[in-house]
Amino acid sequence: MDITVRQGDSLWYYSQLFSLPLPLLVDANRHVTPDRLSVGMRISIPGYTISAYHVGAGDSLWMIANRLGIPLDQLFLVNQQLDPNNLQMGQRLLLPQRVTAKVIQGARPYWSASLQNDLRVLTEVYPFIRREVIGASVMGKPIEEIRIGYGPKKIHFNGSFHAHEWITTPVLVEFINEYALALTNQTAIRGLNMQALYEEVELSIVPLVNPDGVDLVINGPPAEEPYRSNVIELNDGATSFAGWKANIRGVDLNNQYPARWEIEAERKPRSPAPRDFPGYQPLSEPEAIAMAELTEARDFWRVLAFHTQGEVIFWGYQGLEPPEAEGIVNEFARVSGYEPIRYVDSYAGYKDWFIQEWQRPGFTVELGRGTNPLPLSQYPAIYQNALGIMLAALYM
Ligand SMILES: [Zn+2]
Repeated sequence: MDITVRQGDSLWYYSQLFSLPLPLLVDANRHVTPDRLSVGMRISIPGYTISAYHVGAGDSLWMIANRLGIPLDQLFLVNQQLDPNNLQMGQRLLLPQRVTAKVIQGARPYWSASLQNDLRVLTEVYPFIRREVIGASVMGKPIEEIRIGYGPKKIHFNGSFHAHEWITTPVLVEFINEYALALTNQTAIRGLNMQALYEEVELSIVPLVNPDGVDLVINGPPAEEPYRSNVIELNDGATSFAGWKANIRGVDLNNQYPARWEIEAERKPRSPAPRDFPGYQPLSEPEAIAMAELTEARDFWRVLAFHTQGEVIFWGYQGLEPPEAEGIVNEFARVSGYEPIRYVDSYAGYKDWFIQEWQRPGFTVELGRGTNPLPLSQYPAIYQNALGIMLAALYM
């Protein structure tokens, strides 16, 4: 919620009044200089929403505050036009309300539009979360990055490189919500102090790398030509796109990176297909390019690309992975029960390229087990395993 600054107010005072860590208030209001608030400025209070209340017979502001357990000055702050000595029955008051539950529902499919909607909800309730468009898909849909924190340790997660692995997107969105909720309420997750992590880490998340592909798997072929005719033809006329892995042009985005790409080009499909075609050249697709440019710009210390399925974690590439990657993957395995796999006969993936270019820890995490797309019935178990891995990625 937003409030209007009064004479004498400060961010420090708001942090006391709302029991919020000061760094969250500062980060939710980067448009102002923290010690220079002036009367009439609008300030965001993260983790709070406003609800309405109608004054009852005999109500006073003090009684309402007492009954609802709201500090009296919170009521004064959000009802500045009000004359507290002259409340009228039926009069509408605003009540600040601390958000104590998740504002989004994790176990659901996300396509590009529903994702944008929930990211808007999350950044409204938690304005210290930053949201940035880092590129556009073939069909012009935004590819978005979420960032949380300003710490020196830069960690990146992404999901849905592969269209029919869309269950990785709600996992990341729910984690954003759980993290923000723990921060504003100063609660731990699995015993971990999240405020300490927040100050140490800048977390970058691209929850949906392949919006056109995921929209195709979930909602069927687009109305727009030439995409519609093209995907129907590539799909051999089949009406279900449940097995589609590629982007809308039939290029496998996780086979697009210049890390021994030629090997994949040699043995994989030579033309667009629902899966595995690495493109006519590396980094030909806008989604793959957007991820490459982001990675070049951000100086990530480590990256985790979430895929499904198999309950394994790939962590090596050509011996270029640094020694600490082994300790990290062993911790991932400990918290999830997933099996670490160092080398596999596969190239041109995002994590391969990351390890090759930076010699820093990069991981492909294969969530769940079964046939893609994995059913939502697996979601709760998948989320718990992924949560352990994500937390370990932040604290290790
Ligand atoms: Zn995959």
